Amino acid sequence: MTHDTGSLHARHRAVMPSWLSLYYAQPLELTHGEGRHVWDAEGNRYLDFFGGILTTMTAHALPEVTKAVGEQAGRILHTSTLYLSRPMVELAERIAALSGIPDARVFFTTSGTEANDAALLLATTHRRSNQVLAMRNSYHGRSFSTVAITGNQSWSPTSLSPLQTLYVHGGVRSRGPYADLGDPEYIAACVADLEDMLQQTAGGVAALIAEPVQGVGGFTAPPDGLYAAFREVLAREGILWISDEVQTGWGRTGDHFWGWQAHAESGPPDLLTFAKGIGNGMSLGGVVARAEIMNCLSANSISTFGGSPITMAAGLANLNYLLEHDLQGNARRVGGLLIERLRAVAAGLDVVREIRGRGLMIGIELVRPGTDEPSPEAATLVLEAARERGLLVGKGGQGGAVLRIAPPLTLTVAEAEQGAELLADALRQTQRQLA
Ligand code: PLP
Repeated sequence: MTHDTGSLHARHRAVMPSWLSLYYAQPLELTHGEGRHVWDAEGNRYLDFFGGILTTMTAHALPEVTKAVGEQAGRILHTSTLYLSRPMVELAERIAALSGIPDARVFFTTSGTEANDAALLLATTHRRSNQVLAMRNSYHGRSFSTVAITGNQSWSPTSLSPLQTLYVHGGVRSRGPYADLGDPEYIAACVADLEDMLQQTAGGVAALIAEPVQGVGGFTAPPDGLYAAFREVLAREGILWISDEVQTGWGRTGDHFWGWQAHAESGPPDLLTFAKGIGNGMSLGGVVARAEIMNCLSANSISTFGGSPITMAAGLANLNYLLEHDLQGNARRVGGLLIERLRAVAAGLDVVREIRGRGLMIGIELVRPGTDEPSPEAATLVLEAARERGLLVGKGGQGGAVLRIAPPLTLTVAEAEQGAELLADALRQTQRQLA
């Protein structure tokens, strides 16, 4: 670490909250990026297997997005939603059409937290209830309302809550009570659990919110069809389904454009939230809902920066690029290959318990070698070892024992192969260190 980065770290600690964690014993200062690579202040290059935090969805410094942002910045940066701007209306039209939600309306925010907060405001107002169902091990944001529906305790810093939340089984399977069941039996057990939950409520639950693939929770996907089965139960009581697509949207999961489409039998969700990747790094989020739900608020509820032309221009350019270049298809093909490679590597390593994922959303669950005990220590060691080799990966899961791989969706086969080799090396070193 250079003297400069060291003092930057000290300055960070002196002025920013203690609960803001940084990766690595010697935190990394990033200065620029291009394609799937980023550079640190010392000029070292890294293959970025975490894409920011799934924010750089397409590529770092993608010329199409940079150009659109530059041109918009030269015209007008911000107008507020009190006035019209062409990119805002255009992006809303595009997202409404893509969402699959009939008679859809789009409300723009600046983050995923705010998008989920808006969805909760809409669902609870529409249903006149503050009872919400969420999934165990979920993550939905850091505001007062969204920590109240976050089932992953290491990401939910307060139990004081403005909402009454009940947590349902189904989001994470591998260590839960139904882990050994086959798919149909697993779905039936989770549905029974949901029905049981509903029996315990005084009626009038507003909504169920779920990530189609849990992100912070360690990239865990339920079997296809689970949320369709849930939907049947929810629909009986008019309970709304909010699909949190902050990590899963825009083709990242490979097989589908939205995560909810793996559960499509019962149709689209009532509300869909998005953020992260759509701005390719710009602060852009939002919620989509049928008009009758979106229009249920009576008081003004604007977002000063939501819908800002500069983020809208970035979103439009990014969306055009990912559709024109079929990045969903690339996520499916290259993600499939990467999972295969990683499974081959893991076969010889007992520090790896499971490799799972959809498209370019791949989780590697680590354990203390020779045991079934989750090992956050192993994850920390792999992160450091991968960094030394020029590879950045993320971590998550309960307790932080899962490596998270989510590169920009333009990842090439050669980069996937190179990243898999670097990661294999880092895993082998970690296995030796822990043996
Ligand atoms: N929902 C999900 C599924 C997320 O993964 C996140 C962030 O990681 C959020 C919501 C919150 O988004 P943001 O950090 O943009 O507020």
